[in-house]
Amino acid sequence: MEGSCPFPDSEEKDVSPFVRNPLGPSAFEGKGRAAHERGPRLISWNVTLRCPLRCAHCYIDAGDREAEGVLTTDEAFDVIDQIRAAGKPVVILSGGEPLMREDIFEIARYGTDRGLAMAMGSSGIFIDEQSAGDLRYAGIRKLAISIDSATAAVHDRFRGVPGAWASAVQGIEHCRNEGIGVQINTTVLGPDIHDIDAIVSLGKEHGVRDFQLFFPVPTGRGAGLPALTPQTYEDLIRGVLARYNDSGINIRPTCAPQFRRIADQLGIRNPGWGRGCIAGLSYCRIYATGEVTPCPYLPVSAGNVKTTPFADIWNHSTVFAALRDPGRLTGKCGKCGYQDVCGGCRARAYGARGGVTDSCGGLVQPEAADRSFCGEDPWCRYEPGAGGS
Ligand code: SF4
Ligand code: SF4
Repeated sequence: MEGSCPFPDSEEKDVSPFVRNPLGPSAFEGKGRAAHERGPRLISWNVTLRCPLRCAHCYIDAGDREAEGVLTTDEAFDVIDQIRAAGKPVVILSGGEPLMREDIFEIARYGTDRGLAMAMGSSGIFIDEQSAGDLRYAGIRKLAISIDSATAAVHDRFRGVPGAWASAVQGIEHCRNEGIGVQINTTVLGPDIHDIDAIVSLGKEHGVRDFQLFFPVPTGRGAGLPALTPQTYEDLIRGVLARYNDSGINIRPTCAPQFRRIADQLGIRNPGWGRGCIAGLSYCRIYATGEVTPCPYLPVSAGNVKTTPFADIWNHSTVFAALRDPGRLTGKCGKCGYQDVCGGCRARAYGARGGVTDSCGGLVQPEAADRSFCGEDPWCRYEPGAGGS
C-alpha cells in the first residue's frame, strides 16, 4: 500500500493535497453548495495490487498477485475521463507499487493532459534517474515516498525487503533532481516520538518539508500488527502537534481525525487544515478493479466505475450520503461538538462493529455494511460534554 490518504498541506497552492484546505470545517453547511457537490478534491487510486515489498501493515495485502479484473489501460483512461467529468481533483496513483504497472506513465500522462493534478505514492524502490525523469515527463507533480524509520534496518524489516530504505532515500534525491515535489509518508510503528523526530531530521537533510504520519488502521496484513493503545495514540498526536507547530515544516497526523480536536484543545489554529476525516466528503478511493470506496481502509463499495459513471457514484451513492450526514453519527461522535472538524475515523468505527475484512479484496456492498461505519471512533479518548466542547 502506498500513498493511501490525503497528502498534507503543501507549498504548492494550486492543487490539493496541493490545496491547503481540501475541506473546511463547514463542510456540511457551508455557504452555497456543500463541499461534495463540487466533486471530490482528492482521489487515491490503487492502480495495481502488485508490489515487490512485503510490508507488515499493508491494508491491501499487496504482493505477487494482481487483482482479478484489474482495470486495463483503456479502462484506466476511461476512469480518468469519468473523474474529469465529475470535477478536477488531485489523483494519487497508488498501489501496491504503482510503478509495477507497465502503462503507469501513460496513465499519468493521460490524466495530466486532461487537466488533472497527478500525484503518486510509491515505496521509492524503482525510482532511479530514468524513472524520475519519466515521472516528470508524465506530469507527476508530487510524489510521496514511504519511510517508516530513520534506521535502515528497521524500515527494511518492516517492509520485508533488504535495501528498501536505501532505494527510498535515493528515490527522494532523484525526484528532487527532477524538480518533483517530495513528501515523506511514515507509518507510525511505535509510541516513541523520537522515532518521528529522526525521520523529520532525515527528510530535512534531503530537502523535504512535507511529512504525513499514518496512524495504522487494522485492515489487511495490518490487522495482525500490535495496535497502539488509544492513550498512546492521543499522546503521540498531541506531542506531534505541540512539537512541530510553527516549525516551518508541514507535518500532519493522518487517519487520526482527532488531531483537529486536540489542536483546538492546545490552542493551535491552522486555517490550512481541513476536516480530520474527509472520507466521502471530498475524498474517495478507487480500487484496482474499479470499485469506489470512501477511503482505502473502509472497504465498503459505493459502486464500480465499469458499470456506473463515477459522477453518479459520487453524487448518489447511499454510502457517501451517509458519510455526508452528521445526523447519522452515533455514539460519542453523534453528540460531540467537534464532529464538524473531526468526524472520527469511520474505518475504525466500522472495524469496531466487526465490519473490516481480512483483506481489502473482500469489498462489501452497502447493504451489508448497514451504515455501521457511522458509529463512534473507538480510538478517541474524548468524552463529549466532559469539557472543551
Ligand atoms: S475513515 Fe479513517 S482511515 Fe479513512 S480517511 Fe477517514 S480517518 Fe482515514
Ligand atoms: S467523539 Fe468522535 S467527533 Fe468527537 S473528537 Fe472523538 S472521534 Fe472526534
